[in-house]
Amino acid sequence: MEKRDDNITAMCRPAVGEAGKTGDWRDMKPVIDQSKCIPAIKNRAACLLCWLYCPDGVVIPTIPVGIDLEYCKGCGICAEECPAKAITMVHEGAKNE
Ligand code: SF4
Ligand code: SF4
Repeated sequence: MEKRDDNITAMCRPAVGEAGKTGDWRDMKPVIDQSKCIPAIKNRAACLLCWLYCPDGVVIPTIPVGIDLEYCKGCGICAEECPAKAITMVHEGAKNE
């Protein structure tokens, strides 16, 4: 039987959004709850699925994980893919940043 490699890696490096700055027109924005985020809890580069799946490459894979909101388009893919449910999409202007 063929041996499978279950490690998932990015095929290319994400880059800042090609549509330019999105902060002016975005309706929703992602907010990370660091108390649920795996890298923050483990204090090491783990998970990072939000970084892997973000189509605009604006997730910053640091500890704690960050998001460049100047270029994030608010699509919500990161929140959908986060296994720890650490990302919530909130309306722009909401106070819980
Ligand atoms: S996908 Fe969720 S748990 Fe994983 S690094 Fe991103 S915010 Fe943290
Ligand atoms: S909302 Fe979309 S563009 Fe913004 S960080 Fe999440 S996946 Fe990336």
